[in-house]
Amino acid sequence: MKQSRYAIRSFILLIAGVFVIELGIMASLGKALSELSPLKVGLIDSALLSILFFPFLFFFFLRPLRYAAYHDELTGLPNERQLREQLDHEIEIAAKRKQLLVVVFADINNFKEINDTFGRDFGDVVLKKIGVQLGENDHVETVVRFGDDQFGAVLRDVASEGGVGAVLNGIIEHQKEPLHIKGRKIEISLKIGAAIYPDQARSTNELLSKAEAAARMLEVSKNPYLIYSQNMDDEMRDRQELAHDLEGAVDRQELVLYYQPIIDIKTGQITSCEALIRWQHPKRGLLSPDTFIPIAEKTGQILQIGEWVLNEACLQLKAWMTTMPLGIKGVAVSINLSARQLYVPDMVDKVIGALERSGLDPELIELEITETMLMKNLDIVQDSLRRLDDLGVKLVIDDFGTGYSSLAYVREFPVSVCKIDRSFVSQINVDENKRMVMETIIMLAQKMGMTVTAEGIEDEDQLKALAKLNCDSAQGYLFSKPIRSDDFLNLLIRQRQDKTA
Ligand code: C2E
Ligand code: MG
Ligand code: MG
Repeated sequence: MKQSRYAIRSFILLIAGVFVIELGIMASLGKALSELSPLKVGLIDSALLSILFFPFLFFFFLRPLRYAAYHDELTGLPNERQLREQLDHEIEIAAKRKQLLVVVFADINNFKEINDTFGRDFGDVVLKKIGVQLGENDHVETVVRFGDDQFGAVLRDVASEGGVGAVLNGIIEHQKEPLHIKGRKIEISLKIGAAIYPDQARSTNELLSKAEAAARMLEVSKNPYLIYSQNMDDEMRDRQELAHDLEGAVDRQELVLYYQPIIDIKTGQITSCEALIRWQHPKRGLLSPDTFIPIAEKTGQILQIGEWVLNEACLQLKAWMTTMPLGIKGVAVSINLSARQLYVPDMVDKVIGALERSGLDPELIELEITETMLMKNLDIVQDSLRRLDDLGVKLVIDDFGTGYSSLAYVREFPVSVCKIDRSFVSQINVDENKRMVMETIIMLAQKMGMTVTAEGIEDEDQLKALAKLNCDSAQGYLFSKPIRSDDFLNLLIRQRQDKTA
C-alpha cells in the first residue's frame, strides 16, 4: 500500500518535473525551441522522460519486483530461488577450496496444531521468530523459508560430519527455549534434515532434495535431526519392506496385544489395563509399536490394524471375565485410537461391532485419543465422540500436556479421563515447575469431573508425590511393564487372592 502511494506520488512529480524542465529549456532557448516542429518537441519529451523515468522505474518497480522474486513475503527471509542461485555459486567455491558445504532442511513439529489452536496471526509470528532463531547459530550463514513451516539454511565453517551433528544439536537445543508470543509462552520443536557436499550430494538439486529426504525420514523417528547418508536409502527400503510385510500381518495373526495394569492409587487395586500392540515379525522378532504404527498410519493400514485391536481387546477382556474364578468385576480395557481411525465415519459402528461380538458392557471400554486429534475440531469427530459417550464408552485424553490444548478446550468434548504424560511424571520430584503444572492439571481436571491417570511411574517416590497431589490412578513400570494376556490374568488373580486372603 505504502509503496504504491509513493509510486503514484513520484509518478506525478516526474510528469511535473518533465513539464518544468521543458518550460525551462524553452525559456532559455526562447523562440528557437518554440519554433521546433511538434515531432521534435515530442522527441525531446521522450528523451527527457526516459532519462528521468529509469531511476524511477528501478526504485519503484524493478527493485521491489526483484526483492519479491528473491524473498519470502511473510518473514522477509531469502527464498528457495535465492538459495539455489547462492548454492550454485557456493558449490564452485567449496570445490575449489575443498571444503564441506552443508544444507539444512527444517520443519516445525505440529505447526498445524499451533495454527489451529492459536490462529494464523499467532502462527505467522512463530514463523518469523523461528526464522530469526535459526539465524542465531554462529555456523548458520543463510536462512531461507521454503514456504509453510519449512525453512532451509546453509552452514559455514564446519569441517566434518561430526561437526555438522554438533551444529544441528546446537540449533535444536536453542530452539527448545520457549518463545514468548502475545503473552503466551510456547515451546516449539524442529525436525532437521541435512545433506553435505561433496560426500552425499554433488549438485544444488541433490543437496536440497537429500536434506529434505532426511527431514522426511524423521516423520517416523523420534530423533530430532538426521544427516543424509547412503544408509538412509537402505532405511527407506527397510521401511518399505516393513510396510509390505505389515500388509498381511493381521491375517497371519502376527499382531499381539500386551496389557499394562492401571492402578487405583488409594486402594492399590488394578482397575483397568491399557492394550498395547506388538508385532511378532517372523524374521525381526517382537517389534514395538513405535517401529510400525507410524508406518501403518502413513499407509492407511492402521484402519485394519485398529479394528483388529478393538475386537481383540474386547474379546480378551470378556475371556478374562469368564476365566477368573470370581469374575473380574469392573476391570476395564483401554484402547489406543489413531487419528485416522477417528476421522472415518464408520468408527462408532466398528466399536459397536466389537462390543456386540464380545458381549461386553460399553462402560468397560475406554478409548484413548490425543489432544492433537481434537484440535481439528471436525464435525465428524464431535459427532463420533458424542455417540460413543451416549453408548457409555469412556473417552481418555492420552499423553496430556504434550500438545498445545488446555483442559478448558478438552472440556468441550465428552472426555472422562485425563492421562498425564510420562514427561511430567518423570520430573515430578526433579522440576518444581512440572510438579506445579501437574498439581494444577489434577485439580482442574477433577473439578471438571474427570479422573486423572499418571503415566510412566517408575519409582515409589513418584507414586508418593502423585498420591500427595491426589492423583486418581497410576500406570508404569513400578507396577508392571506391558505383559502378555496370560501373565496379566495371573497378575489379576494374584492380586484378588491377596485381597481375599
Ligand atoms: P501410549 O499410549 O502413551 O502408551 C504408553 C507407553 O508408555 C507404552 O509404550 C508403555 O510401554 C510405555 N510405558 C508405560 N509405563 C512406562 C514406564 O514406567 N516407563 C517407560 N519408560 N515407559 C512406560 P509402547 O507399548 O511402546 O507404546 C508406545 C505407543 O504406541 C503408545 O503410547 C501408543 O501411542 C502407541 N500404541 C500402542 N498400541 C497401540 C494401538 O493398539 N493402536 C495405536 N493406534 N497406537 C498404539
Ligand atoms: Mg495410550
Ligand atoms: Mg500415553
